Amino acid sequence: MTSKKLTGFLSERLDALKSQGLYNEIDPVEGANGPIIKVNGRELINLSSNNYLGLATDDRLKQVATKAISTHGVGAGAVRTINGTLDLHLKLEEKLAEFKGTEAAISYQSGFNCNMAAISAVMDKNDAILSDELNHASIIDGCRLSKAKIIRVNHSDMEDLRQKAKAAVESGQYNKIMIITDGVFSMDGDVAKLPEIVDIAEEFDLMTYVDDAHGSGVLGNGAGTVKHFGLQDRVDFQMGTLSKAIGVVGGYVAGKRDLIDWLKVQSRPFLFSTALTPADVAASTEAIDILMTSTELQNKLWENSDYLKKGLQQLGFDIGKSETPITPCILGDEKATQQFSKRLNEEGVYAKSIVFPTVPKGKGRVRNMPTAAHTKEMLDQALVVYERVGKELGII
Ligand SMILES: *Cc1c(COP(=O)(O)O)cnc(C)c1O
Repeated sequence: MTSKKLTGFLSERLDALKSQGLYNEIDPVEGANGPIIKVNGRELINLSSNNYLGLATDDRLKQVATKAISTHGVGAGAVRTINGTLDLHLKLEEKLAEFKGTEAAISYQSGFNCNMAAISAVMDKNDAILSDELNHASIIDGCRLSKAKIIRVNHSDMEDLRQKAKAAVESGQYNKIMIITDGVFSMDGDVAKLPEIVDIAEEFDLMTYVDDAHGSGVLGNGAGTVKHFGLQDRVDFQMGTLSKAIGVVGGYVAGKRDLIDWLKVQSRPFLFSTALTPADVAASTEAIDILMTSTELQNKLWENSDYLKKGLQQLGFDIGKSETPITPCILGDEKATQQFSKRLNEEGVYAKSIVFPTVPKGKGRVRNMPTAAHTKEMLDQALVVYERVGKELGII
């Protein structure tokens, strides 16, 4: 019999979410997550994926994934430390290290569990972590899991970071101290001030951890935010995901050999959760190969995002201060934002509304993610819809 406590808890909480308009209905995509997606039988221009370079549906990746399945099967068969480490994993990790300009790299089953794994493998209750207030949920959870003291830093406020770093060091309370930040912040598309962050870290001998989920494949000729600023030798943890620009699934840390060796013996998802599948690993390796040999896809991504940004701005939308392809349309009011996204959808554009608690109250926005796979015609069509719906709802 089902627990009455559970039934009561669930119905109360679900009803509360629904009455506040915060219950998220999930629309399944019928087919591939490309620049055009089919949802409820309707074809829509897709401005909501993280598939920056279009690699999720790239034929070259599909081919190597298919081949890996035929030679290595569909599953790795074990956790990495028993006998789930296939030759394909090592090849991927060598490639990742080369891509990031580090001695070594380690892969995980997702970016989310990579943050949980890596932060908690190194930090403990005698340590402190200086964490930007807009850091991703997986960073926050990784920090919590480590039991280190979490010191929240105002977003990209270098004065605040320096003061809090100094205070933490001078308190003498902490064994180790780490600064952790997103490389690119996913809601506004702004880039972390890594040169200043690294200077502060070196001044006080702090560790640095950059989660570059939205920077890899996008900035620094594809190698990410750390490379963009030329800081490969000055950042301890270059964390990234294989699920966004790389187009597959998985997470990784690139860094010094000792760090990676430690993570291989100490991080729990590496020891206790089955390794990435052969197809994931082969496709990711191919994607990184493509990124390392050509900037064609990155160039197309930036060309498309400049085009979309210019178009939206000319129509009179507030697109914030993004420095990357992430293109928010900031409306502010939560209800208006949801209504706008719904009308865009009805007119053929899939762009998700993002409201509190993902962004602060009064900062609701529709977030657009242009990719290298969009054609100019698709973007023009999207802009026509934006203009029509924007005027209809009195936004522009
Ligand atoms: C998406 C994201 C992650 C999680 O990556 P997954 O591979 O999807 O689990 C981690 N950090 C940041 C900053 C992200 O944007």
